[in-house]
Amino acid sequence: MERVSHENIPAGVDSRIVERTIRSGFPWLKFPRRLEAAFEAEVGADRCRQLAIGALFGVVLYNLFLISDWLTAPDTFHIALWVRLGVVTPIALLLIATLYLNPPVGVRELIVAAGAVVLGAGSNLYLMLAAHGPHHDAQHQIIILILLFITMVQRIRFWYAVAACLACFAMHAVGLAMLPQYPLDFQVSANAVFGCAVVLAIFASYVLEREMRMNFLLSLRGRLQRRELDVESRRDPLTGLRNRRSLDEVIEVCNQNKGWNQELAIVLLDIDHFKAFNDTAGHQAGDVCLKRVAGIIQSELRDHVDTAFRFGGEEFILVLRGVDLSTAVRISERIRRAIEDAAIPHPALPIGDVVTVSMGVASAIVSREIRVGVIISAADSALYAAKRNGRNQVSPRPQPSDVVDMQDRKLRLM
Ligand code: GH3
Ligand code: MG
Ligand code: MG
Repeated sequence: MERVSHENIPAGVDSRIVERTIRSGFPWLKFPRRLEAAFEAEVGADRCRQLAIGALFGVVLYNLFLISDWLTAPDTFHIALWVRLGVVTPIALLLIATLYLNPPVGVRELIVAAGAVVLGAGSNLYLMLAAHGPHHDAQHQIIILILLFITMVQRIRFWYAVAACLACFAMHAVGLAMLPQYPLDFQVSANAVFGCAVVLAIFASYVLEREMRMNFLLSLRGRLQRRELDVESRRDPLTGLRNRRSLDEVIEVCNQNKGWNQELAIVLLDIDHFKAFNDTAGHQAGDVCLKRVAGIIQSELRDHVDTAFRFGGEEFILVLRGVDLSTAVRISERIRRAIEDAAIPHPALPIGDVVTVSMGVASAIVSREIRVGVIISAADSALYAAKRNGRNQVSPRPQPSDVVDMQDRKLRLM
């Protein structure tokens, strides 16, 4: 019967945890457990796809370096051909295929980080060391591209990016040291440039991931606020029950008869002599009385199945699903008794008299001919009869066998 769909709000996440996390600034790029799980659940599948596409793109670029291999080290081109196309590309394609299986976050990030470092950087350094051409040492510069690929294109999670960048740095330094006749001052200078690239890449990775996480939180905050407004716009501010707008939506859904073909009972409830209550005790006292009556009604209904609405003024309407007339009358009698038993003093009646309600009940299976409006009209006529017959009663009258045992308050129907 709920009409509002609360778009994509993860279970167990509320605005308090979102606000707290935004305020904390999450410097370690980690959310509280439940929020982290929600974040992953929301971005995980898309991220796997994006990483796979990025990786395919990376494999193509990686193999384009065969041109550079041919130009700088023609003697060992056959090795490059074998390493790039025969070893690295098939393994990379296999890893990319596993991304389509939506692996958990740790595996996913590890696949991309390790793939880029071991396959990308490792194979390029290997080819650099294996080559004998005059410009073979130029190969080490390719590793800067790997840094860019990891942090800017794939944007792997920060801590994985840190590990991957540092591994690249170590491999770069060792690779240069292993180059024959590569002077120390050249090594220092090349490592310094590479070190700066590592620092910048790590910095960018932090900023990008923080931004992505913040965008998620802001979007979630927006969704939570919309849901709050949604709920508020359907609630009567005085009693906390649902309002007329919400009732209209429920009626529309019932009229469309979607999903169920059961009997629908409507109960109209009106406080007796309420004008006199207000006139004697004042409007504020009247409001307090309305709230108490609303609270009693709500506590007598089945959560999430039956719904109570404030119909207007001191009238309420109950929508009871899958309930036939005699059961609805029985429930109504129970509510009437509960309100009477609450013994709210009525200031305009003789001393000892309490606030009471009259109730009209009708029930039918909603169909093309019998719309909800027809049932409401029937309940209204029954309410009118209850008033005419002396108030403080349910109409139609409960049968003697329907006498309500108050132990039965938590009656669960169906
Ligand atoms: P009956 O037993 O026939 O139902 O008589 P009644 O006096 O309850 O009915 P009537 O329709 O004449 O009066 C309803 C009163 O409800 C009128 C108004 O003072 C009061 N009322 C309507 N809305 C509110 C509200 O939001 N707060 C308060 N305090 N009173 C309200
Ligand atoms: Mg009334
Ligand atoms: Mg009344």
